[in-house]
Amino acid sequence: MNEGKKYIYLDHAATTAARREVVEAMLPYFTDIYGNPSSIYSMSAGQRRAIAAARAKTAAALGAKESEIYFTGGGSESDNWALIAAAEAGEARLAEGGRELSSAAKTAKRIRPGKHIITTKIEHHAVLHTCAYLEERGFEVTYLGTDRCGRISPEELEAAIRPDTVLVSVMAANNEIGTIQPLAEIGRIAAEHGVLFHTDAVQAFAHMELPVNELGIDLLSASGHKFGGPRGVGFLYIRRGLRLRSFIRGGAQERGRRAGTENTPGIVGLGRAVELAMAGLPENREKERKLRDHLVSRVLAEIPGSRLNGCPVPDSAGLRLTNNANFALEGVDGESLLIMLDMKGVCASGGSACASGSLDPSHVLLAVGLPEQLARSAVRMTVGPENTMEEIDRAVDILKESVTEIRKRNGSLEP
Ligand SMILES: *Cc1c(COP(=O)(O)O)cnc(C)c1O
Repeated sequence: MNEGKKYIYLDHAATTAARREVVEAMLPYFTDIYGNPSSIYSMSAGQRRAIAAARAKTAAALGAKESEIYFTGGGSESDNWALIAAAEAGEARLAEGGRELSSAAKTAKRIRPGKHIITTKIEHHAVLHTCAYLEERGFEVTYLGTDRCGRISPEELEAAIRPDTVLVSVMAANNEIGTIQPLAEIGRIAAEHGVLFHTDAVQAFAHMELPVNELGIDLLSASGHKFGGPRGVGFLYIRRGLRLRSFIRGGAQERGRRAGTENTPGIVGLGRAVELAMAGLPENREKERKLRDHLVSRVLAEIPGSRLNGCPVPDSAGLRLTNNANFALEGVDGESLLIMLDMKGVCASGGSACASGSLDPSHVLLAVGLPEQLARSAVRMTVGPENTMEEIDRAVDILKESVTEIRKRNGSLEP
């Protein structure tokens, strides 16, 4: 029996079901084709070929080269690797004497000497906690704020760049409010100053086009389970010519930069998921957009004291992921609401899944200017192409009912 069928699943930003085709593509690599990819016998060649094919599909989705894709254990690992390795490279250049780079070296993306990193206040904890760790190690981090929609200002970014800035890390799209950053402008500014540009694209990859060369991205993190692939497998794109240390030390896998026997079934599944997601991209985005826009317009029209967090919808400027809605609901405690929604069969989320269980309001909602009380009332609903209009209507009805119930219980009348 399909457990998922009992629910209206509106939490695609937290994880997605692996697609049937993905699981089918993976299965032979658990059982029938199982040699260690590093071994010499011919059964292993099948593993190596499958990994190479997945790498080619992944690279194609970014307009990158196959040699620029490194498979990892997921988005968090990719973020940790990118930040720590870039920071250490800057530090190593300092130890070397910190000679200023010639402009030729800058264009070749040599790493600048220094111990300063620029990021944003609205990053995922995989980035923020890694930055905190680097601060403990003596690195300096500047955290850029955003406007109410959740976008950073390119001018502020440029002003924050110092002679010792090594890396700018700005997420492609936010996991809570779906805000898409001005990536091309960030990439241009980073390149002009010879600073590396990393983007956490875990929410964005395979949900929108991310041509790394056009956008000036040097490092990009993504994760399989956010786009119909398996969990526990992701990748880091590393621009060719960038010398970064390996993160997991051991064997010579992934061209000596990420040790550990390859997760062949996972990598094959990720490759198949990339292929399917990219082939269906325009159609799925359109489907999601229709579902999301309907969800937003009904909630705002029918639930008094509701507001949409993040960029406005409809979204003609393309500032918001097509699958994301995030509401603040006056006089409602978000935690109680989520529990009530769950009892009525709707899977939704507060700030981010990783933060649930903690009492802190979402750092993202606070950063975009929500008062604490409203931030605590937030509910995120993220749709997927397999959702239906009927499900959205049912979910809105349930949300309305639940909000009324909670407000009545709290003795607060409709605001
Ligand atoms: C989910 C997510 C991550 C973490 O990815 P995992 O594969 O779960 O480790 C990192 N960043 C963002 C923006 C995410 O949404």
